[in-house]
Amino acid sequence: TIGMVAIDNKGDIAAGTSTNGAKFKIPGRVGDSPIPGSGAYADNTVGGATATGDGDVMLRFLPSFLAVEEMRRGASPTEAARTAINRIATHYPNFMGAVIAMNMDGAYGAACHGLGDVPFPFVVQDISMDQYKIETVNCS
Ligand code: ASP
Repeated sequence: TIGMVAIDNKGDIAAGTSTNGAKFKIPGRVGDSPIPGSGAYADNTVGGATATGDGDVMLRFLPSFLAVEEMRRGASPTEAARTAINRIATHYPNFMGAVIAMNMDGAYGAACHGLGDVPFPFVVQDISMDQYKIETVNCS
C-alpha cells in the first residue's frame, strides 16, 4: 500500500491510499484502502491521515478518521496515530499495521503495530527541501 497525505499551495489537504492487494484474497474483496475514514481521511480544518496493514481488521475501526478526529480535539499527529493504532490493537493484538497523520501546520507523525523489531518507514518532503527524507517510527 502507498498512503499519502499532502497539503497544496492553496492550503487544501488531501489523503489517499492505494492497495497492494492482499495475498490470497477472495474475488470481490474490497479491503480498507477505498473505504473513506479507513484507508484515508482528510479535513481541511484539521489534517489528514492514511493507514496500511491488515485491511480486513483495520477497516472495522476507521483508523484514518479516528486519527483526524483525535487531532481535531488537540492531539498531535503522533498521538493521534498512536490512538488509532491502539484502538485496533486492543481488540486485535496480533494485527499488523500503521497510521500516518499530518495536521494543517504540516506537523506529522506515525504509529505502527505488529512489525516486530522492524521500524515502520515513511517519506516526508516539503517545499523547503531539495529532496525527500525517510523517517521511521518504532512499533512498540
Ligand atoms: N491495507 C491493504 C489491504 O488490506 C494492504 C496493505 O496495506 O498493504 O488491502
